[in-house]
Amino acid sequence: MERFDLKDKIVLVAGASSGIGAATVERLLAEGARVIAAARRMDRLQALAKDRPGHCLPLQLDVADPDSTSSMVERMPEGWRNIHGAVVCAGHDVGGRARFDQADAETWANIIETNVNGTIRVCRAVIDRMTARGTGHIVTLGSVSGLITYPGGSIYSASKHAVRAFTDGLRKDYGDSDIRVTEILPGLTRTEFAESRWGDGSKAEAFYDKAPGLLEPEDIASAILYAMTAPESVNVSQIVVHPTRV
Ligand code: NAP
Repeated sequence: MERFDLKDKIVLVAGASSGIGAATVERLLAEGARVIAAARRMDRLQALAKDRPGHCLPLQLDVADPDSTSSMVERMPEGWRNIHGAVVCAGHDVGGRARFDQADAETWANIIETNVNGTIRVCRAVIDRMTARGTGHIVTLGSVSGLITYPGGSIYSASKHAVRAFTDGLRKDYGDSDIRVTEILPGLTRTEFAESRWGDGSKAEAFYDKAPGLLEPEDIASAILYAMTAPESVNVSQIVVHPTRV
């Protein structure tokens, strides 16, 4: 069976400005895909797209903002709208790793707004082209926190349990077509995630340094590329990735 060729395919990466998303952009470009790199921090995206005109398009996107997400496709230049794939990396745990009463409702709600509703919005914005063609690939970022719970993680874990259920349901919705739907469930990965959670770079570094084993963003990008380059008749529905030492 033939490996799926991503050359010249248009792939949106939502949450491309750092971590797993940024590593995925690099891997997709190396496969010859044309990549729309979307997130809130345009300076990061412009740096990623620099010297890659026609191959990498930076796009301002706030997945927690319904207007930003629903206008996303029409804000792309005409030649970029026929999206083959969408990798939804946008997510955070701002205010997390704290007991439930130690943050306010809005802080908690924003995790759900971004991780769950944001994922739903991005998928809705790209699905019409996929259904019109009868082909496409959506990849969501769940987490091992979507399989377990832990103290201080009730909301983040709830968000990733929701991503897992949503992604599984989505795959079943399109089971009568060549639209593939994959959930990637990473274990602890060294990115900007912990710094964004605490707003404190040295606390984040200490947290990662203490971990017995850690993944790198490229490890997760490799899992994403494995699913996206599988033969078109193969839907890799979930990939759970742990560091070897846990
Ligand atoms: P990261 O380095 O902090 O990257 C998060 C990305 O999400 C950034 O590009 C950020 O861009 C984007 N983002 C956050 N809020 C957004 C919004 N409202 N609109 C658009 N983009 C937004 O963290 P990461 O580890 O790569 O996280 C990527 C995904 O992997 C997340 O869904 C996370 O839950 C999941 N994950 C991470 C780990 C881990 O250990 N790191 C483990 C399991 C799962 P801007 O700030 O520029 O918007």
